[in-house]
Amino acid sequence: MLRTPEYDADLVILGAGGAGLALASRLAQAATSLRVIAVDVRTEYTDDRSWCFWADDAHDLRPIVSREWSDWTYQAVGGPAHAHRVDGETYQYVRGADFYAHARTLIEASDRVELRLGVAAGEVRPLHPSISRPAGEGVIVSTSAGEITARWVVDTRPRRTAAMLFQCFSGAEVEHGGALDLEALGIAPGAAGLMTGMRADADGLGFVYVLPLSDFTALVEWTRFSPTPLRASEVRAGRDAALAALGAPLGAPHVRVLREEAGVLPMGRVPDQRPARGNRFRRFSSVPPAAHAANGTHENAGSIPGVVVAGAAGGALRDASGYAFARIQAWARDCADRLARGEAPIGHPPEPFIRRQMDRIFLQALRAHPERTADYFAAMARGVAPARLLRFLTDRARLSDLLAIIASLPLLPFLAQLPDRSRALAASSVRRPDLVRALRGVRPESAAASEATAEPLEQVAS
Ligand SMILES: Cc1cc2nc3c(=O)[nH]c(=O)nc-3n(C[C@H](O)[C@H](O)[C@H](O)COP(=O)(O)OP(=O)(O)OC[C@H]3O[C@@H](n4cnc5c(N)ncnc54)[C@H](O)[C@@H]3O)c2cc1C
Repeated sequence: MLRTPEYDADLVILGAGGAGLALASRLAQAATSLRVIAVDVRTEYTDDRSWCFWADDAHDLRPIVSREWSDWTYQAVGGPAHAHRVDGETYQYVRGADFYAHARTLIEASDRVELRLGVAAGEVRPLHPSISRPAGEGVIVSTSAGEITARWVVDTRPRRTAAMLFQCFSGAEVEHGGALDLEALGIAPGAAGLMTGMRADADGLGFVYVLPLSDFTALVEWTRFSPTPLRASEVRAGRDAALAALGAPLGAPHVRVLREEAGVLPMGRVPDQRPARGNRFRRFSSVPPAAHAANGTHENAGSIPGVVVAGAAGGALRDASGYAFARIQAWARDCADRLARGEAPIGHPPEPFIRRQMDRIFLQALRAHPERTADYFAAMARGVAPARLLRFLTDRARLSDLLAIIASLPLLPFLAQLPDRSRALAASSVRRPDLVRALRGVRPESAAASEATAEPLEQVAS
């Protein structure tokens, strides 16, 4: 029972992964007296993922960037490779283990910020007004190690979500003795393969992501965009096939797996948290069932005063790409600055209207025409100047960039994804009679999708 109006901490961070550690480590460095407790259910950090992002030289995580590429490649199966390069920016690679170690070193050097591992956070609820200082302020978090009270909570625990598409991937960092055949994917020496070997069918797009880390090692990932989350074993089989096709089959004497990583990222999250029956998009949770039990009612946490939801759970993932690392770092910096000024924590900024609409229309077109997805990406890689495409991918697109992207894509499938009124407007302003007829006859994707996915929510993780 709480006997004192004091809080255990000014801020409690739930989940100390990419986002939680980014915020905690920035607060550890900040000039502030804030007391911070970060809890995570994991008992140790492993090299469970790597993060890539585009950046210049001027950022404070530069010391932990272990590899970077000036050129990155797009290629559809049987088609030419498109190498992109943008002056002043490289595709940079941070190992999970290095990021975790870096953040933990900063936290350990602080006597105000504490990281508690092996602690599962459960229910989050408001502190009762009669025992809080200003009525309505303060939060209690139940954890496996007892209750923690705080003025504010930043909750980064993964949660169930419905999405328009799922990016399912499985990768292995392998030692291949120089046998990896990058040429087969059109990847020039020294370049990275962003989306290579792209091929699409009625189930969606598949492609190989290759990061050559040295002459003898590489991270090779197989990725699929799918309307439903795929089983881990299915995606792993795609990865193994890709490795074999590139001359580095698992089990061969010259091939050794150094580490593995995998994930399912929602693209175009659908915020509705109600049961999925009648909801046209599939829900997915990357949280293991045990953590779900521990998480209790945390899916409502964002509606409690003083609680902010952040990280992938709070909208950090870019709808159209699944990239989040750079966005998480920017958020952590802003949020820490505000907290250091004595202000309340903030979540991720809302997506600007035009970007959100572009991403949604793009994802809807991918859902409606999965078999054409490789052509869409190849068309963008071929037809859009690298700097424009990069600005689009990194949230800096100008109107002219968006127009260039639209111009590179086939018009009809994308116009068909516009909401009814906009589609009617587009049809009435288009002068080509064949297009007008086609647009009027198009059945909106939403209707088709609702039939396909109106099923009860099921956990489909691995
Ligand atoms: C394998 C992989 C590779 C990725 N690569 C890239 C990339 O190259 N570039 C990019 O921009 N984005 C990438 N992403 C997307 C995104 O950047 C990551 O998902 C990122 O880790 C999101 O950070 P987060 O803090 O939201 O989630 P996480 O890093 O997953 O952290 C959530 C934390 O919550 C903890 N937790 C869960 N339940 C509880 C509980 N009940 N109590 C306490 N703690 C709990 C978990 O243990 C975990 O540490 C990748 C994602 C994955 C999965």
